[in-house]
Amino acid sequence: MSIDDLIARLPKVELHCHLEGSVPAPTFIELAAGHGIELKTTDPEHVYDFFSFLEFLDLYYQVCDALATPADIERGVYDSLVHGKATGNLRYREMFFSPTNHSQVSYGQMVDAMVSGIKAAEADHGVSCRLIADINRRQSPQVAVQLVEAMIAHPSEYVIGLGIDDDEATGPPEMFVDAFTLAGRHGIRRTAHAGELGVAANVRTSLELLGCERIDHGYAMTRDPEVFAFARDSGVHFTGCWFVNNFHEGVFTEGVDPATTGLAQMIRAGLPVSLSTDDPTMIPTDLNAEYASVAATLGLDEAAVVGLARAAIDGSWADDSTKATLRAELDAAAR
Ligand SMILES: [Zn+2]
Repeated sequence: MSIDDLIARLPKVELHCHLEGSVPAPTFIELAAGHGIELKTTDPEHVYDFFSFLEFLDLYYQVCDALATPADIERGVYDSLVHGKATGNLRYREMFFSPTNHSQVSYGQMVDAMVSGIKAAEADHGVSCRLIADINRRQSPQVAVQLVEAMIAHPSEYVIGLGIDDDEATGPPEMFVDAFTLAGRHGIRRTAHAGELGVAANVRTSLELLGCERIDHGYAMTRDPEVFAFARDSGVHFTGCWFVNNFHEGVFTEGVDPATTGLAQMIRAGLPVSLSTDDPTMIPTDLNAEYASVAATLGLDEAAVVGLARAAIDGSWADDSTKATLRAELDAAAR
């Protein structure tokens, strides 16, 4: 069995994927048409084309606008999970969603719609999912606190965590201490996008001030030995996105060797790292491609590939019995 065959067979857990970045192109085009949203093209092969990070964000917010009603959101979640299963043998995902980017529905409506989509995908395709509500750090700290208050007022066993994403330079982690402290007091798990394009110190601040139990990305800390040592010694889990890191660090535009990127260094150093797609329908990647590219670039053997898949289970916030089931399924497929 080749490494690629093994990768395709492994049931995978993904801890870093955004609803709004994982809606299949045909679904996005159809939902956009229903709301009169003007797209650059209605060709599913090219509707998600972008040439800069700003263009990417413009498209991302168009997807948010297309996911306007509870029915849109339910369908978006369902199609996202089915796409993950089809392209990467996805078995379990902890998925980000950004409630404050969807102005036409309340937090409660959005969660209820997402849970309906998750239940249908699980029944039809055996792929399960839990949710992490993401703060948009370009919005105010008050909006972030209101989001956590909504989470507390509308509890759901499906919503297990709080995260924060978007531009680190605009919204450094220390601005959002109140929201994260409130979440922690109510038993909500915490993670943060940090050290993606922002400074390494954001990783440390997210751990120390926000009480984060995971870090999303984290690559910048490989350029700061002190932060790197602090994060390594903390044992915190990192959700790494290979394509995104390669994009940010100039692998495609400047010929940078992918074996030298931040994520490559983190994997080689043996940190607790899992692989995820981030925005798998907007960027040209999927879970199988993430694993295959990492394995080829770093020369990983079968045991190391299975180890990456196991790290995702270890780093997840699933309950113990779910984790035991996922581990048993992984071991069976790896045999
Ligand atoms: Zn992300």
